[in-house]
Amino acid sequence: MNCTPLYKRDGAALSMLQKLRFFPLAVSGGAGSTLIEDSGRELLDLSASWGVASLGHSHPAIRAAVDGALANQAGASILSGTNQPAVELAETLLKLTPGAGDRRVWLGHSGSDANETVARVVPAATGRSRIMAFSGAYHGGTQGSMSVSGHSAQEGVAKSSGLTLVPYPDPFRPFEGDPSGEALLAHIENLLATSCPGDEVACFFMEPIQADGGLIVPPQNFLSRLAKLCAHYGILTVCDEVKVGLGRTGKLHCFEHEDFVPDIVVFGKGLGGGLPISAIVGPAWILDHAPAFSMQTLHGNPVSASAALAVLNTIQADNLAAKAQANGRILMDDIAHLTSQQPEVGDIRGRGLAIGVELIKNGTNEPNAELAQKTVYRAWQLGAVFYYVGMNSNVLELTPPLILSEDEARAGARIVAQAISEAAAGKVNDDEVTEFAGW
Ligand SMILES: *Cc1c(COP(=O)(O)O)cnc(C)c1O
Repeated sequence: MNCTPLYKRDGAALSMLQKLRFFPLAVSGGAGSTLIEDSGRELLDLSASWGVASLGHSHPAIRAAVDGALANQAGASILSGTNQPAVELAETLLKLTPGAGDRRVWLGHSGSDANETVARVVPAATGRSRIMAFSGAYHGGTQGSMSVSGHSAQEGVAKSSGLTLVPYPDPFRPFEGDPSGEALLAHIENLLATSCPGDEVACFFMEPIQADGGLIVPPQNFLSRLAKLCAHYGILTVCDEVKVGLGRTGKLHCFEHEDFVPDIVVFGKGLGGGLPISAIVGPAWILDHAPAFSMQTLHGNPVSASAALAVLNTIQADNLAAKAQANGRILMDDIAHLTSQQPEVGDIRGRGLAIGVELIKNGTNEPNAELAQKTVYRAWQLGAVFYYVGMNSNVLELTPPLILSEDEARAGARIVAQAISEAAAGKVNDDEVTEFAGW
């Protein structure tokens, strides 16, 4: 394997526990949608570090915000005080997130701590012990967030004792052969009436597009109908917008593609544009449940909060949701066009700049994990960075920066299509990819 000196040093110094390797990527810089490798080679970033780099790399608005926050640092925490950027961020999130009644904002570092907090506080505040979520869901990598997740990569991790998982509405691999989601809704309704009594369920976690589970877009109106069912039982809907929220899908919030307003909304990843920050927006009676209930010392630090404010302001000022919609359409259509003769491409789906390409074995619907692995490796060789997701590890995931240009979308589609076709034609050896198992 042809890895750079920086990559070799990583292996000798950094823990494997936090590695999910797809190819030997070692980055020394970046700007916009471009990453620069240790070797000096430029790569088109079609992942944005799993959607985190929402404004791309080295965005001037984030640099200015972080610089400003550090030039006159207003402490480093909100636990025992407050600061201007944290308050302003909370006010901005309340303004930008639809919802009724008296609401509050909780600030964290990651999608994981935010979802973990929801999973702890909603049962505590409601007195209900059960939680529902979808199989395939990825809500985080801490014990509490994993305990309400259903992703196969976390098999063997203890689940919350009150957790009930149900299948995600997947039109490509539908529950009971019904792509409309009707049969699944009936199944959930039946559960709530019998073995998982609805009046014992505190909340229902949902990703409006199930990203790590395979970039699955639910059938139209499924989530709004599920929300109605939840409302009937007083179950709070928790919308995990960590990966697909804040402009990525062509609307500010992914749940806005359907006619419903979640009770609780969770933000992370792209909110900080590269700095660690997450947020929960929800009812005051939940998020004011008790003091000192869920806190980490650096929560609400003014540096991360300032970066998040810059991200939110830029998304609005530069109309990045509309841009993501337009360039996502180009990226998806070009991939569809360029791969129309490729029998291994089973499905291409997504909204805006959240796109999944499901790879199958020629002539069957069987997941083709080996091809996904070889495709992302080949794409890296050709000059683009993206990874794969899914319970069967066979879905290419494209979540580029929202600032991706039309030319970059077109160039990205060409690399994706070429990588699939060359990987399918055997241009990547088994030996080359064995070290990079992904997940
Ligand atoms: C990544 C992700 C999380 C966890 O976020 P971290 O920043 O890794 O803690 C939670 N939910 C969804 C939908 C995610 O994609």
